[in-house]
Amino acid sequence: MGPGPCNPYPEVTQAFTRPLLGHLDAEFIALLDETCERLRAVFRTDNALTFPVSGTGSAGMEAAFVNLVTRGDTVVIGVNGVFGQRMCDLAARCEADVIAVEAEWGAPLDPQRLLEAHPNPTLIAVVHAETSTGVRNDLAELGAAKGDALLLADCVTSLGGIDVRLDDWGVDVAYSGTQKCLGVPPGLAPLSVSDRAMERLLKRPQSWYFDLQMIADYVTGSGARAYHHTAPISMIYALHAGLGVVLDEGLAAAQARHQQCGDLLQDGLESRGFELVPPPGARLPQLTSVRVPESRLPKSVSEADIRKELLNRYGIEIGGGLGAFAGKCWRIGCMGHTARPRNVTLLLAALDELLV
Ligand code: PLP
Repeated sequence: MGPGPCNPYPEVTQAFTRPLLGHLDAEFIALLDETCERLRAVFRTDNALTFPVSGTGSAGMEAAFVNLVTRGDTVVIGVNGVFGQRMCDLAARCEADVIAVEAEWGAPLDPQRLLEAHPNPTLIAVVHAETSTGVRNDLAELGAAKGDALLLADCVTSLGGIDVRLDDWGVDVAYSGTQKCLGVPPGLAPLSVSDRAMERLLKRPQSWYFDLQMIADYVTGSGARAYHHTAPISMIYALHAGLGVVLDEGLAAAQARHQQCGDLLQDGLESRGFELVPPPGARLPQLTSVRVPESRLPKSVSEADIRKELLNRYGIEIGGGLGAFAGKCWRIGCMGHTARPRNVTLLLAALDELLV
């Protein structure tokens, strides 16, 4: 539970105890290659450049933008929450002309409005699973009609929890994080770049560390790998193990488990009179966004007090609202290893005890 780092899978915790290898050791390179192969499987892509960026999800976002967007480029960005806003901030720092296509927070983006926002943008960018509101935004319709534009998707909260199909949907660049539905601690940003996007990489991006052409020589080069930076070995062991758990369970089965828990939680909340933020059809199973039940709070008890009690008394962390939703909604993550029906049962029972 919790909207942030989830409890990792036990196999992942175990992976941190593996003896360290050098970052250019052939045995480590083989494990890195296998990790990239596993990432291709969960992203459902054949993209050659698919690897974990050293840094959290935001590093993936930054690597994607700085390599593809420069001064004067037109970038169309869907904004219906905090992470869409963050992409606008990042694109503006790349000195792009940003066209923000907004939807009400809690509602999904309208792909047609994004497609009609500009006749020939460099890039269209969307957050697949908006963690601040619990809303799923559609990618397939954008990919089918994107024309010459590149399609960029933030898959931080979606990867491993709901369907992600980069190649089928025509997504050119996608990044994720390890700490959500992959059940691994925070620290890496899985990134995948299509061949079409590779042809458009900037020759000299503003960032040295995130220069994808340089990193590609290390992560996908054949033969001797050129040193770029010292890879965070233990985190890559952990991601390798987490992806192994997800693929052993089967992607479809892992997604079905997230769906089952999301349904159980959302039905349980609605049957108790809670109001879910997103409309049916746009709700993420792995991140449930629910309005704070003001009328059910005991006298002189705030919503933050309830969250504190959940943590202290029951060991359950749920998140408060972000940005415009601060104090107004709760965000309940049910992701990766924590997506288990028993956790949902415990949370609902705890709410029954704490609320009036
Ligand atoms: N994008 C989305 C949708 C997120 O939910 C988050 C973090 O929760 C990020 C980007 C940023 O990731 P990180 O906090 O790992 O840098």
